[in-house]
Amino acid sequence: MFTASLMPPEVVRAMETAARCFVRLDELHDAVGRRIAALLRCEAAMVSAGAFGALTLATAACTAGADPERIRRLPETSGMRNEVIIQKSHRFSYDHAVRNCGVSLIEVETREDLTRAVNERTAMLLFLNKNEPLGRITASEFVELGKRCGVPTLNDAAADVPPVDNLFTYTEMGFDLVAFSGGKGIRGPQGAGLLLGRADLIRAERDHDADWREWEARVKIIGDALAGVPGVTAERFVPRIANQVPHLRIRWHPGGPPIAPDAVARRLREGEPSIELVPVPEDASSLEVASWMLEPGEAEIVARRLREIFLAARG
Ligand SMILES: *Cc1c(COP(=O)(O)O)cnc(C)c1O
Repeated sequence: MFTASLMPPEVVRAMETAARCFVRLDELHDAVGRRIAALLRCEAAMVSAGAFGALTLATAACTAGADPERIRRLPETSGMRNEVIIQKSHRFSYDHAVRNCGVSLIEVETREDLTRAVNERTAMLLFLNKNEPLGRITASEFVELGKRCGVPTLNDAAADVPPVDNLFTYTEMGFDLVAFSGGKGIRGPQGAGLLLGRADLIRAERDHDADWREWEARVKIIGDALAGVPGVTAERFVPRIANQVPHLRIRWHPGGPPIAPDAVARRLREGEPSIELVPVPEDASSLEVASWMLEPGEAEIVARRLREIFLAARG
C-alpha cells in the first residue's frame, strides 16, 4: 500500500494547532459537521474514520436507526431491516464496510430487478459512483427508484473528488447519503472521511446526548411518581462500571411500605404488563430500576405500577 495523498501545509498547521488543546470531542465533532454541512449545502455532515467508516455508519443508521438497543446489537440484525440492494456490477472490495454491519447484499441488474427485490427487510440501496458506466441503472435513476420504494440511497463516491463540485452533485441529485474519502483528492488527513446527507440518518448513530436526556427524563418520571409514597426514597444514580447510564434506586426507610423489595419485584413481574427490574443480589433492602431499555411511554407504566403496588401494600 502507498499513501493516498500528502497534506497541504495549512492542513498540517491546523492539525498541529488543534493538537495543543483539549476539546470535548462530541462538541467538536458536531460543530465540524455543522460547518461542513453549511459549506457543502447539505442537510447534515459528519467526519468519519475514512470513507470506510462513512459506509459502515451509513449502513448502521439505515439498519438500526436511532434505537440504542438495536445499535448496541449490531452486527446482529435479526428483526431489523438487514438487506442492502446493489447492482451486480457495483460489488467492490470495500463493500465489506457495509457487510460488517450484519447485512446481506442482494444483487440486481435492472430497474425491474431492483423494484422486485425491495421488501420489508430492505435497509438501503447502495451505489458505487465510479462504476456507474458499468451498471444498467444510472445514478439519477437509482435515486428515483429509492424515493419511489421509500428506501434510503447511499452513494460511495470515495475517490470522486476532484472535481470539487462532486461534493455537492450527489446530495443535490437526491442521494440520501454520500460518502467521500478524506485521504484522496480532499488531501488528508489520510484516516478521515465524510458522510453527507440526511440529518436523521447522520444523527442516528451518534446523538448520545439525546439518548442521555431521554434516560434522565424516564428516571425522573419514575422517581416523581414515588415522591408521594411515605417511607421510600427514589434516588437517581449512574453505576461506576458497566451500564453507566442513569438508573433509579428505591430505598426503604422506617415506616416504609410493608412489602419487601423482592415481593415488589415479583408483583411487577407477575403483573400486566410484566416488568423486570435490575437484579441487585448484594442488597436485599432496595430495588434498582434501569430506564435505557424502555420503549417510549413505558417509563410511565413502570411509574404507575410501582405506585400501585406500594399504595396497595399500605392497604
Ligand atoms: C478509497 C475508497 C474507499 C475507502 O476510503 P478510505 O477513506 O481510505 O476509508 C471506499 N470506497 C471506494 C470506492 C474507494 O475508492
